[in-house]
Amino acid sequence: MTQAHDFPAYRGRMEYFCLGCGATHGVDELLYTCPGCGGVLLLRDTRFDELKKTPAQAWRDIFDARAATKTNALRGVFRFYELLAPVVEPRDIVHLGEANTPIVMASEALQKEIGACFGFKNDGQNPSASFKDRGMACAFSYLRALIRKHGWDQVLTVCASTGDTSASAALYAAYCGGPITSVVILPQGKVTPQQLAQPLGNGAVVLEVPGVFDDCMKVVEHLADNYRVALLNSKNAWRILGQESYAFEVAQWRDWSVEDLCVFAPIGNAGNVTAIMAGFLKLYELGIIEGLPRIFGVQSCHADPVYRYYAVDDPKERTWKPVQVRPSVAQAAMIGNPVSFPRVKHYAERFEAIRGKEGFQVVQVREQDIIEGMLAANRRGHIACTQGGECLAGLRRALELGLVSGEETAILDATAHHLKFIGFQQMYYDNSYPEPYEIEPRKDLANAPETVIESEERDRLSAEAYIVEAAERIVKRLGLAKK
Ligand SMILES: *Cc1c(COP(=O)(O)O)cnc(C)c1O
Ligand SMILES: [Zn+2]
Repeated sequence: MTQAHDFPAYRGRMEYFCLGCGATHGVDELLYTCPGCGGVLLLRDTRFDELKKTPAQAWRDIFDARAATKTNALRGVFRFYELLAPVVEPRDIVHLGEANTPIVMASEALQKEIGACFGFKNDGQNPSASFKDRGMACAFSYLRALIRKHGWDQVLTVCASTGDTSASAALYAAYCGGPITSVVILPQGKVTPQQLAQPLGNGAVVLEVPGVFDDCMKVVEHLADNYRVALLNSKNAWRILGQESYAFEVAQWRDWSVEDLCVFAPIGNAGNVTAIMAGFLKLYELGIIEGLPRIFGVQSCHADPVYRYYAVDDPKERTWKPVQVRPSVAQAAMIGNPVSFPRVKHYAERFEAIRGKEGFQVVQVREQDIIEGMLAANRRGHIACTQGGECLAGLRRALELGLVSGEETAILDATAHHLKFIGFQQMYYDNSYPEPYEIEPRKDLANAPETVIESEERDRLSAEAYIVEAAERIVKRLGLAKK
C-alpha cells in the first residue's frame, strides 16, 4: 500500500483546453474532443503559476531526492507529480514499474560508425515493453480517481492500436481490475505476433478490423463519440501528460542542462513527440532547465504527413494533408492521419519562438535505412526496435543534411523492445520482404542458426560418443586451437 507521508501536498486545478476554439472544459467527465467544435484537447493546471514561487533549484532538489523514494505512487511517472496530474490521490495511482528507463550511450564502435555522440533511451524497458506505459500509468490513475468519485461500477476501456497501445492498455486494465474491462481494436495482420499475444495474455477482448490503423482509429472515435466507453488512445490528453515524463527524465539525467541535446523521436499518431515537447516546455517555464534542447521528429517515406507539412519552408504556405500509408517496418508509426497533429503545431510554434527554426525539425528516412538502423544498433549491443532504428536513421539523415553538429549529443527514443519486432529482422535475414516495403537485404548482415549435428546421429551413436562428436564438429566449425 502507498505510504502518504512524503506525498506532495500541492493540488492543482486541471482543465481541458481546446486547440480548435480555445474553450475550456472541466475534467470531471471523460472528454476526448471539444464538445463545442470537435477540436483536439490538451490539459493544463490553472494553478501552474503557483509552482513558480518555488525556486528552480528547489525543484531540481525535490525531483533528485524523489528519485530515491520508496513511496510507490511516486516511483514511476509521478516522480514529477506537480508537473503531471496533481489532482489524483496516491491511492488511485497505479505503478507497474514504468518510467525511469535507462539512457544507454551507443557503444564506442557504433558512435564511431555514425560519427556522432549519442545514446538510446530504452523505453522498451517499460513493463509492456514500450513507452505507451508512461501515458497509461497517468490515464489509468486518473480513471481510477474518476471511478472512485462517481462510484461507477462498469468502465469499458477501448483503444485502436498499431500494437503497443493495446498491449499497454490491456496490461493496466487487467491489473486495475474491478469495474475496468479492456477492449482493443487492431488492424488485422498489421500488428506483430508478439504485440497480439500481449492483450490476449492479459485477457482483453481483442477485435480485429481489416484495414490499417487509421481505419481502426475512425471506428474507435465513432464509439467514443456515441457510447459510454473510456478511450485510451493518445487522443486522451491524460496519456500525453504521462508521456511528458520522458522529457523530465532526459533533463534529470543531464543534470537539468539540455541545450546541447538533440532529441529524436519517431512520429506516428504524434502523441509522443507532442508530449516530449510539452514536457521540456514545462521545465523551461519553471526555470528548471534554462534552455530547450532541439527536437527531431522522424518519419518513414511510407508514412510521412508531418514531414511533408514541415518540408514547406514558409509557414504561410504549409497545408495539412493526411497521406495513404504504405507498408513500413516502423509499423508502430505507420499512420497517415495523426490525431495529434494540431498539438505538434501548437508546441512546435512555442519551441520555435524560444529556440528558433532549428528548435523543431522533421526528417524523412527510407525503409531500408530504418531496418538497417535497427540491425546496426543491435549488432553493437543495443535492444532497439524498428522505431528505434528509425531514430538512428533519422540521426544519420540529420548529420548528412548538416542539421546536427559534432558538439551536440543526440538522444534517440528506442520506443519499444527489439523482441516485439523480430519478424522484420527475420524477413531481412530471409530476404522475404514483400515488394511494397522496398527493402533489399544485404547478405552480409544476415544471420541464421546452424545445425551442429543431425538428429539421426544421436540414434546411431552412444550417448557419450554423441556428445564428443557434437563437440568435435563445433571445434571444426570454429577452428579452435588446443590449450
Ligand atoms: C506508438 C508508437 C510509436 C508512435 O508514437 P506516436 O505517439 O503515435 O507518434 C512509435 N514507436 C512505438 C514502438 C510505438 O509503440
Ligand atoms: Zn473547441
